[in-house]
Amino acid sequence: MESSLNAARRARELDEVRTVVVDVLVVGLGVTGAGAALDAASRGLSVAAVDAHDLAFGTSRWSSKLVHGGLRYLASGQVGVAWESAVERGVLLRRTAPHLVAAHPYLLPLTSDVGPGEAATVMTGYRLGDALRAAAGTPRSLLPGPSRLTAARALALAPSLRPHGLRGALLSWDGRVVDDARLVVAIARTAAAHGARVLTRCRALALAGDGARVRDELTGVEFDIRARAVVNATGVWAGGLVPSVALRPSRGTHLVLRPGALGALRAGLHVPIPGERARFALVLPQADGRIYVGLTDEPLDGAVPDVPEAPESDVAFLLEVLGGVLDRPLGRDQVAGAFAGLRPLVDSPGGAGGAGRVGGATADLSRRHAVLRSPDGVVTVVGGKLTTYRRMAEDAVDTACPNAPASRTARLPLAGAGPVRPGLPRRLVLRYGAEAGAVLDLMRREPELAEPVAAGITLADLVWAVRHEGALDAGDLLDRRTRIGLVAEDRAAALPAAEAALYRT
Ligand SMILES: Cc1cc2nc3c(=O)[nH]c(=O)nc-3n(C[C@H](O)[C@H](O)[C@H](O)COP(=O)(O)OP(=O)(O)OC[C@H]3O[C@@H](n4cnc5c(N)ncnc54)[C@H](O)[C@@H]3O)c2cc1C
Repeated sequence: MESSLNAARRARELDEVRTVVVDVLVVGLGVTGAGAALDAASRGLSVAAVDAHDLAFGTSRWSSKLVHGGLRYLASGQVGVAWESAVERGVLLRRTAPHLVAAHPYLLPLTSDVGPGEAATVMTGYRLGDALRAAAGTPRSLLPGPSRLTAARALALAPSLRPHGLRGALLSWDGRVVDDARLVVAIARTAAAHGARVLTRCRALALAGDGARVRDELTGVEFDIRARAVVNATGVWAGGLVPSVALRPSRGTHLVLRPGALGALRAGLHVPIPGERARFALVLPQADGRIYVGLTDEPLDGAVPDVPEAPESDVAFLLEVLGGVLDRPLGRDQVAGAFAGLRPLVDSPGGAGGAGRVGGATADLSRRHAVLRSPDGVVTVVGGKLTTYRRMAEDAVDTACPNAPASRTARLPLAGAGPVRPGLPRRLVLRYGAEAGAVLDLMRREPELAEPVAAGITLADLVWAVRHEGALDAGDLLDRRTRIGLVAEDRAAALPAAEAALYRT
């Protein structure tokens, strides 16, 4: 079956889901819900999956994009979480998404804030992480080991570092997804290729063990989807549908810097947070040249918003921490944008795997996922992280459908994985993997689509997203299929092109 998602398919499948009983209804199409839809569909189950907004509308597009081996969990004694992360990182790098996930280097600059004892402790941690990599079967060729660099080498990789007092740097490697929202789209399309009906702009109003009341947000029409099992994968909104699920959302903010803001940066940075032992802010260079700087961890009070705001206090904090290692600290006017996401942390000492804590700082809450069955049979899967989405999805479907065949997703390549036609432009290969050839063919058939829209994005990317990636409006195109919208001026400049792309099809 075709993996393409578009308005015509949505309309057709929306009609179908009213008349059938599906094996599994998945609510929420972030990384977890898209993963659950794929897990169930690839076991041969019939699936409907809905999101109130768009693919990756929630937390999944606001991550740091690290596919990490769980080193920090090891440091806090959560060996099971660390192991699961290392295994899932290997699955993504080696089998399921080698076109979207790759190793990326990070430097920890050895400034006066990092004493020799702390540096030695961190290096021991990196070596343990490397041992975990090996035990999880990920080869060094895909994820190199750690090393110590001289100050001169560190400055060659990160010229904006303050040379004065720099004793060198610790170099480590971890996985990174080229774009978290694109990962979700790839998972959802792979689910669609296995027959899942993937329906955006469909809000679940009420859940039960045998289905949901749903509203088509484009027409306002309400209808029922009947299902043999229901999986609630609505992240920080999960408690709104299943009140027994208690969460303690925590806000994480990133800054967005323009390309070149930190010189010719060739590695990410772990920046020591003054006054905190072994806690670091992250400088994360992106494929489009922009740089993200993150990240905070603040408990959220009050209602959960659709799109969280990044407060000025977070921006000021991150600028100050970053300034601690830069030769020329950045000013507020050099911050091109900022975004915040809400971690769906489980507020239960038992439900989150035992390491959760009620009433403490959110930074200390367990990152382990929980699969919870409510009395009426709805299975909620929550917590965890992007890196472990596949395992979370497998656990959720195992619980929701105990008689189903075993999960196949550890060996199932996502849409775009596979051999790439030789001689294709690098930009397209990085974005589309094995589908790059098809995008190039589109540009050849319709040459006017080669028109640039923003750095690294052409009209062809937008038209492809409308025809194959389920983009239904300009917001889908600018804020999720591409990340142009992270900088307000770039978004405004690209808006006419996004609208033109929607009318071309
Ligand atoms: C700042 C930050 C940085 C992070 N960095 C990393 C990282 O580097 N690496 C990593 O592995 N993890 C990271 N994480 C964790 C990771 O991003 C999350 O654990 C993960 O994205 C959660 O995905 P989800 O699918 O469970 O939830 P979401 O992505 O929030 O998806 C929930 C979906 O449910 C939909 N929905 C809500 N209500 C309804 C309804 N009534 N009907 C239908 N649909 C509904 C929403 O529209 C949304 O699309 C980070 C998290 C944050 C906040």
